[in-house]
Amino acid sequence: MENSSRLSGFYQLGQDERLNLLKSHCALDDATIQTLKDSSALPFDLVNRLVENAIGGFTVPLGIATNMIIDGQDILIPMATEESSVIAAVGNTAKQCRDTGGFFTSLSGTEMIAQVQIIGLTDPWTARAKVLERKDEIADICNACDPVLIKLGGGFRDLEVRIIDTRSGPMVIVHLIVDTRDAMGANAVNTMAETLAPRLSEWTGGKHHLRILSNLADRRVARARAVWKAEAIGGSDIVQGIIAAADFADADPYRAATHNKGIMNGVSAVTLATGNDTRAIEAGAHAFAARTGRYRSLSHYEVTPQGDLAGSIELPMALGMVGGATKVHPTAQACLKILGVTSAARLSGIAAAVGLAQNFGALKALSTVGIQQGHMALHAQNIAIAAGAVGDEIARVALRMTDAKTIRQDVAESILVELRQT
Ligand code: NAD
Repeated sequence: MENSSRLSGFYQLGQDERLNLLKSHCALDDATIQTLKDSSALPFDLVNRLVENAIGGFTVPLGIATNMIIDGQDILIPMATEESSVIAAVGNTAKQCRDTGGFFTSLSGTEMIAQVQIIGLTDPWTARAKVLERKDEIADICNACDPVLIKLGGGFRDLEVRIIDTRSGPMVIVHLIVDTRDAMGANAVNTMAETLAPRLSEWTGGKHHLRILSNLADRRVARARAVWKAEAIGGSDIVQGIIAAADFADADPYRAATHNKGIMNGVSAVTLATGNDTRAIEAGAHAFAARTGRYRSLSHYEVTPQGDLAGSIELPMALGMVGGATKVHPTAQACLKILGVTSAARLSGIAAAVGLAQNFGALKALSTVGIQQGHMALHAQNIAIAAGAVGDEIARVALRMTDAKTIRQDVAESILVELRQT
């Protein structure tokens, strides 16, 4: 019989006790247990405070994208990602638009939306009117939840009340629009929504149900743009090729998903490096990409009057400098120091610029030599390691595979056997 996954009291154990339990439960050897024990660069106390049932850490490589100029300032970008080629692509792309000033960014605002769902109403339009009449009172209730935020110039900004038709009938959805300044703001606005919700039931006669922020942070949209001179990127054919590639993504959701995934390779890597919530950013980006009713590209490319390539991007960017893991994760703090940012607005612009840089790099590769050539060189090394190569064997096995244009683990294994025999 399999061991039960019902590990009562697991949360109360220390790291060693949890690992011991795992050892017998999953029949792990000593080396595996040691790997898990040594897996976190952070003190176990901190890891254990960040998540429940912690047993260690999971290290993702952290690298620096070079060559970026953003809003007139040279800036080094820390990126946390396990995927090869991502950091190199940003640096290469940035190099190709330095002569036009690099990237220029803006942010629509730092407002988040919290939603309160009210159900069980026969008169949703009357309920809507009643809630809107209480806007000032609602502002006071929300602001009283977070005096720190108010002191920093944030707080309640606006109220929207929507009526939506659902399979369960009409629902009244109250949106609290809150300026969360340099915080991502999830906890801040969730507290406001939870505090206000009983009053909404009282005023409308309905029943409040969900009270949670929306990750479609469309009042916090970051934008970035850049121009690549035609001669800097290989001529007007490449300009046209990149535009055709981008237009394909905008017209076809199958392509758009991959196009936007490439953008998020950059955005998520900056998000993770700064201790922000990658899932929140990704959910927001994809929902924003589908806001017209069809899933589309987050970026646009066009020809300038001079015949050069102009790229731009726009996506929700609920990034914070305080709160969440950002404040407590020492690596996130170090990354913010490298970036030299002092506001969430600046950080958001940087992430958007990195997304655009990443996107340009992928489109250029795809519309010229293809993505595999650059990608596979690094990928080959990973395959070589997976096949058991160590030390300088890794580069030798990788090189033999790339020369043969066949990068597969079985090929790596036979090259390795051959190398070791000679
Ligand atoms: P938080 O509550 O830890 O910190 C925000 C608070 O810090 C503010 O409310 C304010 O009181 C204070 N603060 C201090 N200096 C500030 C400044 N300069 N600007 C603004 N506020 C300042 O964090 P948060 O940002 O409210 O929430 C982020 C966390 O919530 C993340 O860890 C995220 O993963 C998590 N979360 C996300 C979701 C979601 O995305 N759906 C849901 C729940 C929780």
